[in-house]
Amino acid sequence: MSNLPAEPEFQQAFHELESTLKNSSLFEKNPEYLTALKVASIPERIIQFRIVWEDDAGKLQVNNGFRVQFNSALGPYKGGLRFHPTVNLSILKFLGFEQIFKNALTGLNMGGGKGGADFDPKGKSDAEIRRFCYAFMRELSRHIGADTDVPAGDIGVGAREVGFMFGAYKQYRNEFVGVLTGKGLTWGGSLIRPEATGYGLVYYVSHMLKYLGKSDYSGKTVAISGSGNVAQYAALKCLELGAKVVSLSDSKGAMIATSDAGFAAEDIEKIAAMKLKHQSLSSYDCADKFKYVEGSRPWTICGKVDIALPCATQNEVSGEEATALKEAGCYLVAEGSNMGCTLEAINVFEASRKEAGALGMWYAPGKASNCGGVAVSGLEMAQNSQRLSWTSEEVDEKLKGIMANVFEAGVSTAKEYVPVAEGERPSLVAGSNIAGFVKTAKAM
Ligand code: GLU
Repeated sequence: MSNLPAEPEFQQAFHELESTLKNSSLFEKNPEYLTALKVASIPERIIQFRIVWEDDAGKLQVNNGFRVQFNSALGPYKGGLRFHPTVNLSILKFLGFEQIFKNALTGLNMGGGKGGADFDPKGKSDAEIRRFCYAFMRELSRHIGADTDVPAGDIGVGAREVGFMFGAYKQYRNEFVGVLTGKGLTWGGSLIRPEATGYGLVYYVSHMLKYLGKSDYSGKTVAISGSGNVAQYAALKCLELGAKVVSLSDSKGAMIATSDAGFAAEDIEKIAAMKLKHQSLSSYDCADKFKYVEGSRPWTICGKVDIALPCATQNEVSGEEATALKEAGCYLVAEGSNMGCTLEAINVFEASRKEAGALGMWYAPGKASNCGGVAVSGLEMAQNSQRLSWTSEEVDEKLKGIMANVFEAGVSTAKEYVPVAEGERPSLVAGSNIAGFVKTAKAM
């Protein structure tokens, strides 16, 4: 599938999808989809460019920029932009590939794409970030458009960066159009878009809980990784619904609650303010409420939990950590990040899923459980086309409806294509992969 010698992240994502399709009755029933899979594994187009920008010292800096326009069978390419020093083509191809099926699952008309740059926003001034965003858009603006390709944020790209890039696009193209999502409210943004990925994740998990006969979140203990936009809003929604949140993390370590109360909404708000300034969680005043464990992720040190929500980045749960979660009594894992779990971790969850009763775990892949973000991006595009703004209640209701449908599609498609034994939870990996793939393949 890959035409480059080493694209480990893309190969991992492709292999994960391919193996679930091949282990189901899909290709037996529809042999023509084998060709569709081959076609879908190659991006329609990749744009790769240089970004030359000036730092505060007046020195020229250069970075690599990319946009992977993966699949437009269902609509304009849609997917975020990631600014992070680790960004390369393998990572953007994996993200773009996942995005195709995620967007298909939302039921909205969006194709899949992803882009970004190996630019590190950490330690940069506002002016440097603005100059970088303008330089990035100078090239990207030729390749995107409200009906062609609609980027949004991802790691390292939030409301401020989207604002700079929207301003740049408007200046270069002299067009005020819905070419980016995640915009500010006064210039075409949608209410609930900042909250959407985290809220959507929590709504999705509430359907998993219901399916298991566990009524709601009250009294549940939740471990969360990450401390960015997705982790923050997932934590706030968990708290609102009565759960206890016991961890957050950043790239340098994990912050674990040491008191029975766990994280409070005001802790999350303080952390959000720190993150805007790119400060590490290690500088949070933990007092006797938290401990910061340097160099660790939450999964082996979070204690007994019911639910784990990886919300940081790809491959943030290893096989050993998956086993540790199982031993800590965790029975639900749902990704707020994209490909948060390694294949080894997924194997642990999928094997455990077959154990009926209290011991079994149930895992939801990001393309299903974190699709709330791009879903509300799709709703932002719809509002932009109509030049209307919906209320938060309207957007939140639509988001809830979409997450319910995505969960239902995962369950019913799994039951249709993969044998499920009595008492076994249907595979949400297989069900979501097949449902997203079939929708795309039909359109192709
Ligand atoms: N970056 C988000 C994702 O991974 C959102 C993309 C979008 O809104 O276009 O789904």
